[in-house]
Amino acid sequence: MKTCIFCQIAKGKIPAQIVHRDDKTIAFLDSQPKSAGHTLVIPREHFTSLLDIPAGLLADVVQSLQKVAQNINKQLKPDGFNICQNNGAFAGQTINHFHFHIIPRYQNHPPINKKDFLVLAKKLTNKK
Ligand code: 5GP
Ligand code: ZN
Repeated sequence: MKTCIFCQIAKGKIPAQIVHRDDKTIAFLDSQPKSAGHTLVIPREHFTSLLDIPAGLLADVVQSLQKVAQNINKQLKPDGFNICQNNGAFAGQTINHFHFHIIPRYQNHPPINKKDFLVLAKKLTNKK
C-alpha cells in the first residue's frame, strides 16, 4: 500500500534499524521505544490486522517473532519481555499494517538515547 509507513520500510523507501529480514517478513526497532530493544515484526506484504492476514503468512511472522525474541534475549538479556499486537484504533493500533511488538522488560530500566539506539541495532544485527 502506497501510503503505509511500514510498507515503505519493507521496501527500503523509509529508513529503519532493521534487525531481521527474510523473504516474507522484516523486523526493525520501534522509533519510539518503550524500552531498549523494542522491536516490531511485520509481514512484508500489507495486511491490516489479525482479521485479514492469511494463516500461512501469520505462521511465517510468528516464526520470525520467535527468532527475533530469541536474539533479543541472547544479546540484551532482559529480565522478561512482552509480545503485544493491537487490532483497531480503539485497541491502540496506530499503524494499519499488521505487526507484533516485542517489548523487553528490565528490572533496572536502562534509559535510551539516540546513541544507544544505534548500538542496540548493531548488537541485534550482528548475530553470533
Ligand atoms: P501500534 O500502536 O500500531 O500497535 O504500534 C505502532 C508502532 O509503530 C508504535 O510503537 C510507533 O512508535 C511505531 N512507529 C510509527 N512510525 C514509525 C516509523 O516510521 N518507524 C519506526 N521504526 N517505528 C514507527
Ligand atoms: Zn503496509
